Amino acid sequence: MKGPASAFAGRRAALATMHGKERAIVPAFRDILGIDIEVPGDLDTDQLGTFSGEIERAGSMDEVLVAKARLGLKVSGLDLAIASEGSFGPHPQMPFIPVGLEKLVLVDARSGLVAMEQSIDLAPSYASWDTASMIDIEDQIRATGFPDQAMIVRPNTGPAGIVQKGIQTSENLEAAIVHAARVSSDGLAFVQTDMRAHFNPRRMMSIGSLAKKLADRLCQSCGSCSAPGWGVKGTEAGLPCSWCGAPTAWVLHEIMGCFMCDHETSQPRSDGLTEADPAHCPYCNP
Ligand SMILES: [Zn+2]
Ligand SMILES: [Zn+2]
Repeated sequence: MKGPASAFAGRRAALATMHGKERAIVPAFRDILGIDIEVPGDLDTDQLGTFSGEIERAGSMDEVLVAKARLGLKVSGLDLAIASEGSFGPHPQMPFIPVGLEKLVLVDARSGLVAMEQSIDLAPSYASWDTASMIDIEDQIRATGFPDQAMIVRPNTGPAGIVQKGIQTSENLEAAIVHAARVSSDGLAFVQTDMRAHFNPRRMMSIGSLAKKLADRLCQSCGSCSAPGWGVKGTEAGLPCSWCGAPTAWVLHEIMGCFMCDHETSQPRSDGLTEADPAHCPYCNP
């Protein structure tokens, strides 16, 4: 347990969440860093935008994330805050595959440190259907982990404002689908997985792993300014082809960096791979 040795040992942090994320985040920050986490009571993070789109999000994901942590600082009066944010959509290169991006930030008002870490989930619990009846989609709904994985239902096309969230029983889901289909101008209900962490067990698990990743990173300090959070900042392509040695688009080096200063080093990829498959070479397999 590195807790007592960490730069944050004994400090209290506000976790800006309304969605039960403390279950996933508290253990890593307590056990690895010795940080005590509290969840401020009167915190409306939905004012920064919601997943289900009732309130439009302002700014980039990183900006919303940091704004959420700063809201935590303000409401709690503490000088340390943590916030988490997720984004889900089609994979940029493979549009039929859903992908989840989770980000976690720690903001230290005492030192000015803003430490952000992220993870990608290539199999998130993220799906949607338009349907007139529950029977048509029942197997697919079960495959997501329903009823632990909750559903959201709304009319497929207008009227806006009718939405039921956090549905976790078959009876309620069926009733919501029937009602939404009846009022929708095309006779269909739009059903989707609820992406709020406390209604999405897969997401809760991803956030837990990410919390450990950020906490571990905060145990590493910069060799130049000694700020906590030394870690992978980016990558550099160019891993040589195993047949002809030409540089490929695969990662050659990981760039290590600091959140507080410009110090950077580059190191070989951490998985030890030194050559790329010729299938990815621009000459051997065009
Ligand atoms: Zn530094
Ligand atoms: Zn080659």
